[in-house]
Amino acid sequence: MSDQNPVFIPGPTNIPDRLRAAMHVQTRDHRAPDFVETFAPVLEDTKKVFDTRDGTVITFPASGTGGWEAAICNTLSPGDKVLVARYGMFSHRWIDLCQRHQLEVQIIECSWGSGAPADKFEAILTTDKAHDIKAVLVTHNETATGVKSDIAAVRSAMDAASHPAMLFVDCVSSLASMEFHMDAWGVDIAVSGSQKGFMLATGMAILGVSPKALAAMEDAKLSRTFFDFRDMMGANASGGFPYTPPLQLIYGMRESLKMLFEEGLENVYARHFRLAEGVRRAVDAWGLKLVADTPDLYSDTVSAIYVPEGFDSNALTDQAFNAYGVSFGIGLGEMNGKAFRIGHLGSLTDVMVLSGLATIEMAMADLEYPVELGSGVAAAQDYFRRHRAALVRSA
Ligand code: PLP
Repeated sequence: MSDQNPVFIPGPTNIPDRLRAAMHVQTRDHRAPDFVETFAPVLEDTKKVFDTRDGTVITFPASGTGGWEAAICNTLSPGDKVLVARYGMFSHRWIDLCQRHQLEVQIIECSWGSGAPADKFEAILTTDKAHDIKAVLVTHNETATGVKSDIAAVRSAMDAASHPAMLFVDCVSSLASMEFHMDAWGVDIAVSGSQKGFMLATGMAILGVSPKALAAMEDAKLSRTFFDFRDMMGANASGGFPYTPPLQLIYGMRESLKMLFEEGLENVYARHFRLAEGVRRAVDAWGLKLVADTPDLYSDTVSAIYVPEGFDSNALTDQAFNAYGVSFGIGLGEMNGKAFRIGHLGSLTDVMVLSGLATIEMAMADLEYPVELGSGVAAAQDYFRRHRAALVRSA
């Protein structure tokens, strides 16, 4: 295994040299005045990535799962009802977390490959005249299936039902890679993490929290200590942290935001679309099928791809790793053995994507897939040549 090779798992992503260097700092005193100067602008600038003016950015030393927990513990009480659709491993895990916190979870079961069913949300919310449902939970980008959901449509459904529930959105594998508009979509809590679009090491749960969610905090009775918004916001107000912060990650975050703004968020989203489209052309040329049902659901950060009948997707990802030292995402949950995933997010160029496509083609050829060697690479090359990227050179 060579660490020269990029990873093609859908997070954690490749960490560009510039960000590794930014995180490579000696311990500094997080109670010294210069920590304030570093941290406060990070919180402020992260609001631009959530596209919120009204929201507050809160971060914890945790992975995305900690962000899920922080969202519910700060705003809900035991026995509160939440409405969630299950259409992949990550929506499933958030449901599990809610159940373990004694929330009453109304689950809409959906096929894996579909997205958030706005029409079903509307129907259920319309009949909930007593407003028992306190929050609707949606996974924006289901990393297990490569499905992107339409959050604006969910917001419209909630508005059409005139329902006051809060809207919580998991954007762990979409933020800073795909469009996200917290205020325009009326999102009350958006949950993300440092290790995907921000291209950093794992270890910061990053949340955008609306004024409505902060108001809900006043009556919320689920217990919380480490993840208490109030403690964190209180300390943040004076530029500090209620406990020891992940200092190196915060330095990394400062540089990551610089990189994203230098490229321009619109360009970042366009790059992810272009890279994803190159991968989709390759999948088509191989004669394989995406797990995502329809083009409007295609994720720009991860493609989940069915292997042909009679093949085992785990053998394919093992072959890529063992023979060529390159990691691809395995199929999770219902998709295990049936689909593999190509992560195409974060610090990635056309050339890197082509190397991933070439590698998985070699692994497929080794395992005698009915796929012509070079066909996917050629389809992606053709697409990339016709939709050439603006070259971004790091300072
Ligand atoms: N939500 C989504 C969509 C994810 O892709 C992941 C992780 O891959 C998580 C939540 C959980 O985040 P973490 O593994 O950082 O706890």
